[in-house]
Amino acid sequence: MKSEKNTSRRVFLRRLLGVGAAGLGVGALVSACGGGSEETAAALCADLSELTEQQIAVRESFDYVSETPNPEERCGNCQFYVPAEGGESCGGCQLFAGQVAAEGYCTSWVPRTGAAGAGV
Ligand code: SF4
Repeated sequence: MKSEKNTSRRVFLRRLLGVGAAGLGVGALVSACGGGSEETAAALCADLSELTEQQIAVRESFDYVSETPNPEERCGNCQFYVPAEGGESCGGCQLFAGQVAAEGYCTSWVPRTGAAGAGV
C-alpha cells in the first residue's frame, strides 16, 4: 500500500513538472515539425532531438505512443491537444514538451469538451 502511494506521488510530480516544461516548449516544437502524409506524420512526430533529457523523461512518464490502440481515444480528440498550425503535420500536448501526432495517445487522454469537441 505504501509503495502504491509513493508511486502515485512520483507520477503526479513528474507530470506536474511536465506541464511547466510543456508551457515553455510546445509552441516552438509544434512549429518545428515538417509536413507530410498522415502515415509519416506519426514517425515525424516522434523526433525528440530538440528535447532535453528531463523533457524526454517527463514525456516518457505519460506512456505516449504515436499510434493509438483505440481510435476513440486519440490526441486529436483530447482536451490537451494543441493542433498543428499552418499545414504542419505534428501538434503538441499541453502536458509535456515535444511533438505529438493527432493519431497518438497517452495515459492522460481526456475527451475534448466544448465547441472544439469535433477533434482533429
Ligand atoms: Fe497529450 Fe495524451 Fe492528450 Fe495526446 S492523449 S494530447 S499526449 S494528454
